[in-house]
Amino acid sequence: MSDRFEVLIVGGGVAGLSLATQLGKSLGKRRKARITLIDKSFSHVWKPMLHRFAAGTVVSENDRISFITHASGHNFEFWPGEVVSIDRAKRKVVLGAFHAPDQSLVLESRTMQYDALVLAVGSCANDFGTPGVKEHCLCIDNLVEANAFNEKFRMELIRSFANSTKLDIAIVGGGATGTQLAAELHKALDIFDPYSLHAFGRIPPKLHITLLQSGDRILPAFPEQVSHAAQSELERLGVTVRTSSRVAAADATGLTLKDGTYIKAPLRVWAAGVKAPDVTHSYGGLALNKSGQVLINANLTAKDDPHIFALGDCSFIEGDPLPATAQVARQQANHLARYLPAWVEHGRVVPSCVFRNKGAIVALGKYNGWTAFPGGTVWGGGVSHGLAARLGHLLLYRQHQVALYGFFRGMMSFYSEWIEGRIRPSVRLD
Ligand SMILES: Cc1cc2nc3c(=O)[nH]c(=O)nc-3n(C[C@H](O)[C@H](O)[C@H](O)COP(=O)(O)OP(=O)(O)OC[C@H]3O[C@@H](n4cnc5c(N)ncnc54)[C@H](O)[C@@H]3O)c2cc1C
Repeated sequence: MSDRFEVLIVGGGVAGLSLATQLGKSLGKRRKARITLIDKSFSHVWKPMLHRFAAGTVVSENDRISFITHASGHNFEFWPGEVVSIDRAKRKVVLGAFHAPDQSLVLESRTMQYDALVLAVGSCANDFGTPGVKEHCLCIDNLVEANAFNEKFRMELIRSFANSTKLDIAIVGGGATGTQLAAELHKALDIFDPYSLHAFGRIPPKLHITLLQSGDRILPAFPEQVSHAAQSELERLGVTVRTSSRVAAADATGLTLKDGTYIKAPLRVWAAGVKAPDVTHSYGGLALNKSGQVLINANLTAKDDPHIFALGDCSFIEGDPLPATAQVARQQANHLARYLPAWVEHGRVVPSCVFRNKGAIVALGKYNGWTAFPGGTVWGGGVSHGLAARLGHLLLYRQHQVALYGFFRGMMSFYSEWIEGRIRPSVRLD
């Protein structure tokens, strides 16, 4: 039994890593609590950039933060693993056995004690039980999946080169992920263009992307004018946007829509819906909504356990639901980082977290971008191809890096990426 207060944070994403870093600086540094981060992977990526990893337009190692090095410099501990069950009465979590990629055993299943448990395991796409999706569609919910997609994308490109055929890709989900991915794949091919002429002696194959959206417009979280402008921009690139199109089934060669239409595509991406990872169903019987998200109070404690907090995409406030965005995850992490120390040290109740909507940004590769402010005002679009909005999107990432690394190292990282961009191609070719 430890003499220090134990704070366990499960999931080192936008919310979890930000919280671990801040609590490390407060409680960890003053040795008032042991802060431990658990994640099933070894590195953190800014999830809003995953579509860029999938397209191969992010190639820098700087864009991954190693949990081990970050923990060692920020007064918290890190263990790889997945929490597979929670014993709420004894305040213990069980971590499943940890295996290497070749399936050999690295760590036996173990238990860890907690005084406060913070769940921040994020979300994944929701296939709503659509037949064939699990087997025949790719998702881009984490770095492993984004890299797997990129590998398939590059292989299909080579096949199209060899056969002089176009490359068909179907993307299901016209939210920020699907829409931005469609544009980013076009950007990847544009960058690839001059290399392919020399390497293969011909221009790259035509990309034909079909973007399927069940609702009547893409980007439904944005004002209508952004949806229409983004659709026009995608169509200008050659993307076929099909709204009010629900997918009924997927198979090894394409997708069948509810109206019977068959969309043939060797590459199929599922980027629709949001649900918590299935593992939340084994979290000690915590109350969940139908998407598996942990039901929480306004002060981020679980509905039925004051020692458990949940943040970001894996949590849900009944009656006042918030969107699954990085902005919400970050604000919730900052709130807990501010008030958890007083709860740990003096038993002061964590107050309600009030979300302040600062607007939303969508960037279609290098082609266009828009910012939607809370009052409904829209900024971006035509002027220099929405340059300001596109830069704003990039700035959010830089802000995240600076928050984690500190100003100096954050800027150095930006600078080194800039240099790398001058010496290496800005698309993944190997
Ligand atoms: C392609 C894409 C583009 C996006 N674009 C935007 C955007 O432009 N703006 C915006 O605001 N939002 C965007 N989002 C949404 C945003 O990324 C999420 O809302 C945000 O990352 C949620 O943060 P989180 O901390 O809750 O979860 P994540 O950041 O997803 O972190 C979850 C962490 O938990 C770990 N984990 C998962 N399961 C387990 C487990 N069982 N055990 C241990 N660890 C686990 C994961 O490895 C990960 O590190 C986008 C998402 C995607 C996929």
